[in-house]
Amino acid sequence: MPIYEFKCRDCNKKFETILTSSAKVSTVICPECKSKNIMKTISSSSYRLSTSSSGIPSGALSGCSSKGGFS
Ligand SMILES: [Zn+2]
Repeated sequence: MPIYEFKCRDCNKKFETILTSSAKVSTVICPECKSKNIMKTISSSSYRLSTSSSGIPSGALSGCSSKGGFS
């Protein structure tokens, strides 16, 4: 049976509930504070963050600021 993970928005408690085909998400309440203000969380297996670190451009020091001092 599939186990879904929920999180209560009122008390921030995470809990897992087995949802059968006949049960609905709207019937799930928080076991801690009996609140219906819950949200379905994604399982950690498919959890991925795409952090693109902004690199410093290395070609910023190639400036042509040389004076032609011919005498
Ligand atoms: Zn709660």
